[in-house]
Amino acid sequence: MAARDDEGRGSAAVAAKGGDVAGGDGAGGGRAENDYHGRLIAQVESIAHIGSFVYEADGRPVEWSEEMFKLLDWSQQAPASLEALVDTVSEEGRGKLRTAVEEALATGKPFDLEAPLITGRGQLRLVRLRAEAPERGDGVRRLVGIAQDVTERRQFEDRTWRLANQDFLTRLPNRRLFEESLERALEVARFNGGKVGLLLLDLDYFKEINTSLGHATGDVLLHVVAGRLRRAVGPADEVARTGGDEFAVLVRDPEGPASLVALSRQILKAVEQPVPIRGSEVAVRASVGGALFPDHARGVGDMLDSAQAALARAKTTGRRIGLVYDDEMRQGADSRFRIHEAIRGALARDEIFPHYQPKVDLETGAVIGLEALVRWRTGSSGLVFPAEFGSALSDGFLGSAIATRVLEKVTDDIRDWLDAGLPFGSVAVNVTAIELMRGAYHEQVAEVLQRKAIPFDRFQVEVTETVFLQFEGREIRDTIARLDALGVKVALDDFGTGFGSLVHLRRLAVSLIKIDRSFIEHIDTQPEDEAIVRALIALGKDLGKRVIAEGIEREEERRALLSLGCVEGQGYLFGLPSPTAETAKMLEDERRRRLGD
Ligand code: C2E
Ligand code: MG
Ligand code: MG
Repeated sequence: MAARDDEGRGSAAVAAKGGDVAGGDGAGGGRAENDYHGRLIAQVESIAHIGSFVYEADGRPVEWSEEMFKLLDWSQQAPASLEALVDTVSEEGRGKLRTAVEEALATGKPFDLEAPLITGRGQLRLVRLRAEAPERGDGVRRLVGIAQDVTERRQFEDRTWRLANQDFLTRLPNRRLFEESLERALEVARFNGGKVGLLLLDLDYFKEINTSLGHATGDVLLHVVAGRLRRAVGPADEVARTGGDEFAVLVRDPEGPASLVALSRQILKAVEQPVPIRGSEVAVRASVGGALFPDHARGVGDMLDSAQAALARAKTTGRRIGLVYDDEMRQGADSRFRIHEAIRGALARDEIFPHYQPKVDLETGAVIGLEALVRWRTGSSGLVFPAEFGSALSDGFLGSAIATRVLEKVTDDIRDWLDAGLPFGSVAVNVTAIELMRGAYHEQVAEVLQRKAIPFDRFQVEVTETVFLQFEGREIRDTIARLDALGVKVALDDFGTGFGSLVHLRRLAVSLIKIDRSFIEHIDTQPEDEAIVRALIALGKDLGKRVIAEGIEREEERRALLSLGCVEGQGYLFGLPSPTAETAKMLEDERRRRLGD
């Protein structure tokens, strides 16, 4: 530090350490002044943990500052030669430092490098060495440098890096880092015309293993699978853990689709050996989906989509290895790509809106609430329904953008209706598992409601129970509990269509269940359906949940539901989903009707 910017002061710093080593060259002022500056600089060095050294290339011994001795843990009598410094550097760095020093002394080129040093007590420290070699005036160069111990800082940086880029459990790269690697690999392949393979591996029945044998067992299993996977692929290939029970492999320069399939087989063979855990053997089964660049995809997103589609196909057909090779699957990926592009445009042009469908009292027909249903109102071809852009709704990024847009518009409408004194009860929005998994959804909701001064009980959230099939439920469970604690009620949508409905009902803080339309539509003609609905209603009542029937289209359905004791419902019989203005009119009529009553 000081040694770099002023030669005189630099030497003074060296002199100040107490005279064990020869003093400066006398270029500074008087001795007292020298001592004063020296002490000052020694103090600064000590605070900054930066040592300094000066070496005259005319054969004099190296001069070290006091802090330099501390840094290296040397007694101050240690031989202070330049060689001695170079020798403290551990073998890998030694050559580099020697070259840098020689070059600096020969040409004056400064250096700045990090080197692992062995201290006097035999400890390994990472030290940053920076030096310049100005000419002294008589043609001889003087090497002036500083040394700083950066061990802790580097450890901290490493830790931070690992937190951001590595999966905690398996120490494999996480999705973020993996996508970066994939991006780079594609760039190289684009440049040199090569190929890149992507394999996604998903464990079958992992959730069941987790639930029945416990999370600790699940963790061991993931760890073992990670190791097997790494050993099964080539040294240049990269393995990552990209999700709960999903791994990804980046395959460099595969020959073609056949070699990807062969590698998939090899991977499955390695992964599917039973894992001994606590005295018993746990069977492992997995599926693999793959995609090849440039054959199946143009970019990272595309490639992940294609491999994911292949994986889904592998799972549903029971083939267990899928590669994007047929047109149908390619079309699937293509159409997803097109839909996502279209929705991005729709968001930018502000064409995403909620429509509202009333929920009514089945006896009186009075409006008790509204459900917001998202619509894309295109400029040219009219309304587009969520079924057509479902893949965008469940996309991490786009789904969030849509959810935020819907949330803002719905809460704007609620605010207006509150101001107008319209009797809308409460408004429910639908959210996907991805939104709830993010872990901050309840905060987002609380923020919006507070900002617009909307009482929390005027807003509800609907979650379809099928979401719990795709995802490990803890974050979702927590988010639901937090919403409930805020006073925002949560409904379990499409109730009865997913597996394990009853388990969800017991574990989730939901206040309402919505019986799926598939049970309602034949309720008056199929005794089995009637029996199921009767049981669901009884169950809801026993558990203290409100029960709402969905998709009521006919008067017979309404009467059948009433006779079973279900008093709330929703469906075309009472009202179609309609835009904000029409909904306001409907609510206006409702208000008049109530006043007239
Ligand atoms: P859902 O939440 O179960 O909504 C009920 C669906 O049934 C709606 O379809 C509604 O228009 C339709 N429906 C209502 N009454 C009747 C009826 O009497 N007969 C028949 N056949 N259908 C009826 P929609 O609006 O197309 O929405 C479909 C699904 O898309 C919703 O099912 C919901 O899961 C999802 N969805 C809708 N809006 C959003 C949203 O803003 N975000 C998210 N993530 N999902 C949404
Ligand atoms: Mg719903
Ligand atoms: Mg539903």
